[in-house]
Amino acid sequence: MSTQVPSVKLLIDGEFVESKTSEWRDITNPATQEVLARVPFATTEELEAAVSAANEAFKSWRKTPIGVRSRIFLKYQQLIRENMKELAATLTAEQGKTLPDAEGDVFRGLEVVEHAASVGTLQMGEYANNVAGDVDTYTLRQPIGVCAGITPFNFPAMIPLWMFPMAIATGNTFVLKPSERDPMVTMRLVELAVEAGIPRGVLNVVHGGPDMVNGICDHPDIKAVSFVGSTPVGTHVYNRASEAGKRVQCMMGAKNHAVVMPDANKEQTLNALVGSCFGAAGQRCMAVSALVLVGEARNWLPELARRAEKLNVNAGTEDGTDIGPLITPQALERVTGLVQQGVSEGAKLVLDGRDVSVRGYEKGSFIGPTLFSGVTPDMAIYREEIFGPVLCVLEAETLDEAIDLVNANPNGNGTAIFTRSGAAAHRFQEHIDVGQVGINVPIPVPVPYFSFTGSRGSKLGDLGPYGKQVVQFYTQTKTVTSRWFDEDEQVGSVNTTINLR
Ligand code: NAD
Repeated sequence: MSTQVPSVKLLIDGEFVESKTSEWRDITNPATQEVLARVPFATTEELEAAVSAANEAFKSWRKTPIGVRSRIFLKYQQLIRENMKELAATLTAEQGKTLPDAEGDVFRGLEVVEHAASVGTLQMGEYANNVAGDVDTYTLRQPIGVCAGITPFNFPAMIPLWMFPMAIATGNTFVLKPSERDPMVTMRLVELAVEAGIPRGVLNVVHGGPDMVNGICDHPDIKAVSFVGSTPVGTHVYNRASEAGKRVQCMMGAKNHAVVMPDANKEQTLNALVGSCFGAAGQRCMAVSALVLVGEARNWLPELARRAEKLNVNAGTEDGTDIGPLITPQALERVTGLVQQGVSEGAKLVLDGRDVSVRGYEKGSFIGPTLFSGVTPDMAIYREEIFGPVLCVLEAETLDEAIDLVNANPNGNGTAIFTRSGAAAHRFQEHIDVGQVGINVPIPVPVPYFSFTGSRGSKLGDLGPYGKQVVQFYTQTKTVTSRWFDEDEQVGSVNTTINLR
């Protein structure tokens, strides 16, 4: 561990503080392995201090008028826009994705911040007048208290921004635990949030790994946990935090299928597929990682391979890069191991990205576009989420066969159909058991007026992040039934039935 590099701070009760822990991890640039900073694995006392600050701040924050809350997010979105280039540069340095893609990562989070600024029209209750004689019933959507968020490495800007802006805009206070692999851009976004006017204690940040996550799951003063990450960890978090009586939402792993019908627009389909399979080095939860070619569309494979082969593998900071490095050497080792397993299990390796070498970045964790055909559902490369630029191609005779194949996979995060047939698209949308469905759209991540969702192994909990669903997640509905008497009204007789008249 290097001691010369800057240390990532905690945010506790409005102060950016150095952790007192003895356990630190290096944050490295995935293209060079240069150590950029070190991140603390914070102590139990530091988690306690963060939750206690959030608990205390909740007392006044929950009463802060909606317009005041809203204006902080108006200011915040402006600050994010002004600092976009710097945020993207930090993100690329620690995560590896290309600079334009890093801006996209920040931008998709920024959209949630913009939406949080309109919380006034989102956090509304319902009102029914005169449900019985002079009786009205209405609902209040009140904040629930201290909420926590645990985020993954692959979108270190967007996913934290899925969480704390909407939680705080709805009147809650927050404790964030960013990914320990790339927390620097997250911290810069947190600094900007403080600059935008989020009061002390309302937003707090702790760093760490499994112990910190377990501490969050168990803490009695945390009322809700939002998690985004892999399926095994998300399942653990869901069970542990639910057991402790919390609301929990977990968005988890994926194996996203694209189904290509032979009547699809070939040019547009192939371009969309290449971008969504290999962009961000396949480290997107919505990357297409399994392709089902239906009928004659199977003849498109050579053309797909030709286009994929042309992608430029290089550091994310270099102009013209299509594919940056994987996050760590361990991730590279895992992905290349799975590719080898695919070969051993009999899949045909049409394109092998393992021998890629990137001049000037010899230590980078690079793998080029990799394409397997003849993949069957029993193979490890199909069963496991590879999280690298590796595409598994399968075949089906009919649309129904393709739908059955997709629905038999344990994951249900995203999918897409490419076709010119409205009937085929409609049949697909109705019968597919997947959260996000694209029709001629390869990465159908919903804009923030809707909510991210997921099906089967990709999601636990009823309500998704951002959009209207998260307003429900971060608020408690109170139903009020009221009756007001006229001052001079005479009291009637005692009524022992349940009806209000
Ligand atoms: P991860 O599950 O390894 O880590 C996520 C978080 O959990 C991190 O903050 C990490 O510190 C913590 N964690 C890791 N191991 C833990 C353990 N044993 N116990 C408790 N906490 C632990 O995920 P990752 O590798 O950072 O991210 C990639 C994964 O996230 C992929 O599976 C991807 O599909 C998924 N993802 C899903 C979505 C979605 O919306 N469905 C979005 C982005 C990423």
